[in-house]
Amino acid sequence: MSMLEVHQFPCLSDNYGYLIHDADSGLTASIDTPEAEAINAALAEKGWQLTHILNTHHHRDHTGGNEALKSRWGCTIAGSKGDRDRIPGIDVEFAEGDIFPFGSHEAQIFEVSGHTIGHIAYYFATDRALFCGDTLFVMGCGRLFEGTPTQMWGSLSKLMSLPDDTRVYCAHEYTQANARFALSVEPQNDSLQARAAEVDQLRAQDKPTVPSTIGQEKATNPFLRPASAALQSNLGMTGGELVEVFAETRRRKDNF
Ligand code: ZN
Ligand code: FE
Repeated sequence: MSMLEVHQFPCLSDNYGYLIHDADSGLTASIDTPEAEAINAALAEKGWQLTHILNTHHHRDHTGGNEALKSRWGCTIAGSKGDRDRIPGIDVEFAEGDIFPFGSHEAQIFEVSGHTIGHIAYYFATDRALFCGDTLFVMGCGRLFEGTPTQMWGSLSKLMSLPDDTRVYCAHEYTQANARFALSVEPQNDSLQARAAEVDQLRAQDKPTVPSTIGQEKATNPFLRPASAALQSNLGMTGGELVEVFAETRRRKDNF
């Protein structure tokens, strides 16, 4: 069985495009479609034919290329059942617990509402690869446009339960700004300080900070750390309910 190949490339101002490819079957999927031209260029560069689009949620910077790519490639578009009326060209509808077979690989579907309702994530367990859209970012999480803090905390808790070496392929390069906020709410965190310095170096060389891993996120991402005594104390919420600490952290980020 061949490895799942992941090809990552920048799109729009701060999105990442991802092509995943199974060499045995020749299948190629685009995770979201921020920009058809950039995705076509990446396909040409790799010599791959697009067979699937796997959408994480309905926002335009994730679905904007669906129709152009479908008309060029005749590919199958999959997305959340909850987004059936909001994802252009959707053919296959997923819900929590569904399995998407992809050659010799398979993705588990997680419902991760919060940023939007019906947002889904794709987890390739044997490859330890998670495509989480705008739910979890490096040292951040998506803004709560449609869901509640309780929903988002439930979604992030699911992702936190994945193995520490799971690679987190999120949809945006927001890391440097996220790190500045993270340091403002948990300056005592040594792992966070080290990671923030590393991120500054990568960005100074114009290199991506994505993917990270679940282990790194649990150590540095304030939205996964409501149980941290230092974070709770800095927010004046010592002993607070985890979901309340998460909600307050998110509120502060919205106003940072
Ligand atoms: Zn979004
Ligand atoms: Fe987005």
